[in-house]
Amino acid sequence: MEAAKKLDLAALYRQQEEKLRQLVARLYEDSPFYREKLRAAGIVPEDIRTVADLEKVPMTDKHELRDAYPLGLMAVPEEEVVRIHSSSGTTGKPIIVPYTRNDVEIWAEMMARCLAMAGVTNRDRVQITPGYGLWTAGIGFQAGVEKLGAMAVPTGPGNTEKQLEMMVDLGTTVLIGTSSYALLLAEEVQRRGLRDKIKLRIGIFGSERWGEKMRRRIEEYLGIESFDIYGLTEVYGPGIAIDCPQHKGLHFWTDHLLFEIIDPVTGKQLPSGQQGELVITTLSKEGMPLLRYRTHDITCIKEELCPCGSPFPMIERVLGRTDDMIKVKAVNIYPGQIDDVLKHTPGAGSEYQIILTRENGRDRMLVKVEAEAGENLERVAAECRKQIKARIGITVDVEAVPAGTLPRSEKKTKRVFDLRDL
Ligand SMILES: [Zn+2]
Repeated sequence: MEAAKKLDLAALYRQQEEKLRQLVARLYEDSPFYREKLRAAGIVPEDIRTVADLEKVPMTDKHELRDAYPLGLMAVPEEEVVRIHSSSGTTGKPIIVPYTRNDVEIWAEMMARCLAMAGVTNRDRVQITPGYGLWTAGIGFQAGVEKLGAMAVPTGPGNTEKQLEMMVDLGTTVLIGTSSYALLLAEEVQRRGLRDKIKLRIGIFGSERWGEKMRRRIEEYLGIESFDIYGLTEVYGPGIAIDCPQHKGLHFWTDHLLFEIIDPVTGKQLPSGQQGELVITTLSKEGMPLLRYRTHDITCIKEELCPCGSPFPMIERVLGRTDDMIKVKAVNIYPGQIDDVLKHTPGAGSEYQIILTRENGRDRMLVKVEAEAGENLERVAAECRKQIKARIGITVDVEAVPAGTLPRSEKKTKRVFDLRDL
């Protein structure tokens, strides 16, 4: 087999630096928010020539966007803004994002690329089940579908009865939605025996973390190949990264977006291949450009280029949020990394618990993992311990328990039990 081509991250960054310099100059000129932020840090635009220089620039966090409500980060005259979207804030005011005509156009272009990468063509009929309105998802997909020349079937969310009817009558070939909604539809299709009446072939799902097992079930019930799409309202919306038929990672669009991976604790830039927090700088955005926006999503920039031949590099599927991070023996661990280990541990199920204690002043981490039915518990535990050492770089205790013994929850299952401060 041919060796995978390596990503030359330094060369990529060199290509992006001209746009970066223009962005910083533009922000200093046109964005009161960023001018103030850069001044406070003692930075003038000439200081930022390279991506390495970016490390000096303070990052932008969600609360600053919220504090600027409604349009404090708008960086163009109002007559250039053609649309706003807003994030669904769980508490307090939402974040309002203004878009220029050019922003809307570039977003549609990136979305069309995503759809094409997943294999969607102008012969497809695409059922769009995310919400429309202030929310970015529905309209973002719609614009990409139209740009590509496929047929949009904009059902929006809910009304499962109608969704299934359209899916059958129109012979929808592509389904777009959240993975939870896809699972619900998949189970309905299965329950009603509609599998032979539908023509789906591709599913594009995003906006939440979903496990390998759930993916398999959706694919099997609907007879589709599924793709993970990534994005966030503050940075256009969905459509800034997607996996390809190789499913080795999510390609992201480097002509419009500069991705850094940083250590979420020290803020230092990390090399490709190392996991950390994704920080995004928008290179082309006009309405509300962002400089070093903290996503709080944990991933890495992959060291290998994809065998599919795309020149666009990839990030790993998001492993979790920095808010879920735990620190053990001076190593940062995200529960999603354990998910990932289990996927690579033969005989292990999907359920686990992490139990942290302190003994004689030292951290002890115990991972309880369910083995699949009929597996030898000790063998699974040993393999899992080996995989954690290899993939996360930490030695922990592992106990394998029989399938079905760990508690299940209909909501978010509690997996981390930190007993160190008790
Ligand atoms: Zn690829």
